[in-house]
Amino acid sequence: MSSAIQNIRGFGDVLPGETPVWQFVEGVFRHELGRYGYQEIRLPIVEKTELFSRSIGEVTDIVEKEMYTFSDRNGDSLTLRPEGTAGCVRAALQRGLLHNARPRLWYAGPMFRHERPQKGRYRQFHQVGAEAFGVPGPDLDAEMILMSGRILRGLGLRNLRLEINNLGTAEARADYRERLVAHLEAHEDALDDDARRRLYTNPLRVLDSKNPALAPVVASAPDLLDYLDEASRAHFEVLRQTLDAAGEACTVNPRLVRGLDYYGGTVFEWISEDLGAQGTVLAGGRYDRLVDMIGGRETPAIGFAAGVERLVALVEAMGTAPDPAAPHACLVVTDTTLMPDSIALAERLREALPALRLEINLGGGSMKSQLRRADRSGAAVAIIRGAEEATAREVTLKDLRGDSGQQRIALDALAQTLSPFCSQ
Ligand code: ATP
Ligand code: MG
Repeated sequence: MSSAIQNIRGFGDVLPGETPVWQFVEGVFRHELGRYGYQEIRLPIVEKTELFSRSIGEVTDIVEKEMYTFSDRNGDSLTLRPEGTAGCVRAALQRGLLHNARPRLWYAGPMFRHERPQKGRYRQFHQVGAEAFGVPGPDLDAEMILMSGRILRGLGLRNLRLEINNLGTAEARADYRERLVAHLEAHEDALDDDARRRLYTNPLRVLDSKNPALAPVVASAPDLLDYLDEASRAHFEVLRQTLDAAGEACTVNPRLVRGLDYYGGTVFEWISEDLGAQGTVLAGGRYDRLVDMIGGRETPAIGFAAGVERLVALVEAMGTAPDPAAPHACLVVTDTTLMPDSIALAERLREALPALRLEINLGGGSMKSQLRRADRSGAAVAIIRGAEEATAREVTLKDLRGDSGQQRIALDALAQTLSPFCSQ
């Protein structure tokens, strides 16, 4: 065979064996976001390049070197979205969702960045993001952080660390920036090319450097928190108190900045200890200035985005995701003459329980081999029907996962007994 066409580097496939975990991760987000009043919004994958250069900032990694930008046939400059916030704000503004309303929105889908592909870092990757508008106070920040913690725990994740910081107002950051530049100039020899380039354009980004050689310079840099304005300091204090009252432990990391320019005030990250260098699984913060940068009236806002590939990798490694496609129950018929009647029983059960996923072991076989097949299907219970059960108008219900053993159930009571198994 001549050379078969391959995928593009950094653009992965999600194979059938992996989709159950993806569906599980997406399902937990959808469920928890809904409980907090967030509504789904679906956005285009391509936007005008200007949307991103204006909002993310000209001197960020993303805009400088990571965007997939091209001219379409009309000569317009378009870009595959590198993140979801800019498009979400664009849509909310353009469609009037911010008019006398305080919407809470979420989205999910692919994002595109031309980065060096490695474990946990791809060129097409997926995010679930949430954005909330119109509330300036730390109560919203706290609620969003608590919601993100609930989601990550809902995925069964452990060994997570919550880091928070406050970037202050633009004025406070300008003061700090001067001090930081002085510090970085004093250590210019220790800086890498990226940091040197950033020095006068976007020095805060040096704090976010992934280069371990810069760690000592970053560690000895002045603390942003020492330069905070009064209002930001009070905001940060209430946020910390609220998290504390809700029992959510966090670490204040004064070096925590986000890779995008539009952030100010509260920033936070959830970091997994189990992922090595690409450990941040969910990151967010306030962006009270973005709506007016895009052309709207100044509107306070906060949001986060979670990296689905990294979450899927963690859930897979733990092996705890339930398979949303697995049957709830498997019907095992040990006597083939009972098959016509058993198929009718299965149809009655499907009728009575619309959520029930029921598989019949067609093709017969010994009780042992049929139970082995039922077990492999992922079903929670086996419904066993042999000659003896048929005469008694009963079935034997066998617990395949827990330790409830087996019990005889009257046919009349079967649908009711199975009903709790259909909730997942
Ligand atoms: P990093 O500092 O790791 O480059 P970032 O600050 O660029 O991350 P954000 O733009 O805040 O990341 O995106 C939020 C989340 O999306 C990240 O915490 C991560 O989980 C995920 N993410 C970002 N870029 C990638 C990528 N190239 N591949 C896979 N996941 C990614
Ligand atoms: Mg990045």
